[in-house]
Amino acid sequence: GVAVGRSVRSRRRWRRVLGVLRELEDACETPVGRLRQVVDAMAVEMHAGLASEGGSKLKMLLTFVDTLPNGNEKGIYYALDLGGTNFRVLQVQLEGRRSSIFPPEVEQQPIPQHLMTSTREDLFDFIAASLKEFVERKEVSFGYSPEKRRELGFTVSFPVKQTSVSSGILIRWTKGFAIHDMVGKDIAESLQLALARNGLNMRVVALVNDTVGTLALGHYHDPDTVAAVIIGTGTNACYVERTDAIIKCQGLVTTSGLMVVNMEWGSFWSSHLPRTSYDIDLDAESPNPNEQGFEKMISGMYLGEIVRRVILRMSQESDIFGASLSNLSIPFILRTPLMAAMHEDNSPDLREVDEKWREMLEVPEVPKKARKVIVKVCDIVTRRAARLAAAGIVGILKKIGRDGGSITGGRSRGDARMRRSVVAIEGGLYTSYTMFREYLLEALREILGEDDARHVILKVTEDGSGLGAALLAAASHSSTPPPNT
Ligand code: BGC
Ligand code: MG
Repeated sequence: GVAVGRSVRSRRRWRRVLGVLRELEDACETPVGRLRQVVDAMAVEMHAGLASEGGSKLKMLLTFVDTLPNGNEKGIYYALDLGGTNFRVLQVQLEGRRSSIFPPEVEQQPIPQHLMTSTREDLFDFIAASLKEFVERKEVSFGYSPEKRRELGFTVSFPVKQTSVSSGILIRWTKGFAIHDMVGKDIAESLQLALARNGLNMRVVALVNDTVGTLALGHYHDPDTVAAVIIGTGTNACYVERTDAIIKCQGLVTTSGLMVVNMEWGSFWSSHLPRTSYDIDLDAESPNPNEQGFEKMISGMYLGEIVRRVILRMSQESDIFGASLSNLSIPFILRTPLMAAMHEDNSPDLREVDEKWREMLEVPEVPKKARKVIVKVCDIVTRRAARLAAAGIVGILKKIGRDGGSITGGRSRGDARMRRSVVAIEGGLYTSYTMFREYLLEALREILGEDDARHVILKVTEDGSGLGAALLAAASHSSTPPPNT
């Protein structure tokens, strides 16, 4: 009697967990038809964002970058990369031949936690002082001189409304940063003032988003590069647009007739996105509700957090995970790298899952069946993210007429005239999370068809947000001669 009762209870518990799992799977479904709707929505929103200011959730920000580096850049340039928890400084020597920029001198430092939520003066004084030390150290071999002028490419991996190639207003923070007195102010100027306060003779000659740096570096190596995508802590894309398509900026003239547009696709939204109750709760409890909706379904900052919410729900329905999981109610305790490690566990009995889970939650062993559930949840969440990112990429290609026309039926598949299109890509999700990358590439082939997909090449660049910014500093510096001194 007791044994029977137990097994009935256990079956019931399992049924509840599998119910939650099935519900999640249904809500996260991304059949190719739905992905094509997302492709179309992305292209439509791009048009809308270019047509008028505020015309779309997609900001479609001008970058004032109208020529991309081609390999002829020369000189010593600096770059500063402010993107998240770390900031990095680089010194790059360009010799006018593509291959000779490597290796650059790079140093990385964490940003002290208290500065991430302090004032802009505190943050930039700290950065300027570190940068000055770096410059002194690097230049000592050929005689550091305070008077020497130096050029800096400044990468800011947050939405900035640019007013020129080297200036722009911070629209808002993302990814957990919160320095309120910086919002609405010129971020390049803030750094420039701090450089002056700290006695470092250096000019910000290029202010760039990390995607734009990635595009610059991608184009430097391969001139067929038309767009860049980052899928890391946050996510975003930029691409090369014709100036006459940027309707909201009438009379915009560049010599190339082109301009790089920073889409800020993290804030893309469409009713076609497969949204779950977990996404809704995550958004509502985030510091930026109703913003960065696409980012919250795709990027590294959030994937582990979605998984945590699902498993928490399961553990409330049933005790299949064994002990009480009180630590699981701590927001963001499940980081995405850990999620990737569990998802990709190939060990017998999913021992890695067990180990990671115990470590994170300070619980004893995880039952084997429960380990499988954890892996399945990771799989559903990552697969959805990767497939949506793929749809976003095809949306860009569609907007610029490089999707092969197979979606709209304009031309036959595998048309020999389809141009080779390279998309530069960076970010830990793509480079370090194999399952994510494979799902993304698979979805690209599904959406475009095998033949057309062959013409679309995703190329990983390395350190576009550092090297790319230095290249853009060089390009911008040589095209606008410095004022006489
Ligand atoms: C920011 C973008 C950035 C992306 C990748 C997003 O949160 O809004 O400006 O390019 O993260 O770092
Ligand atoms: Mg970065």
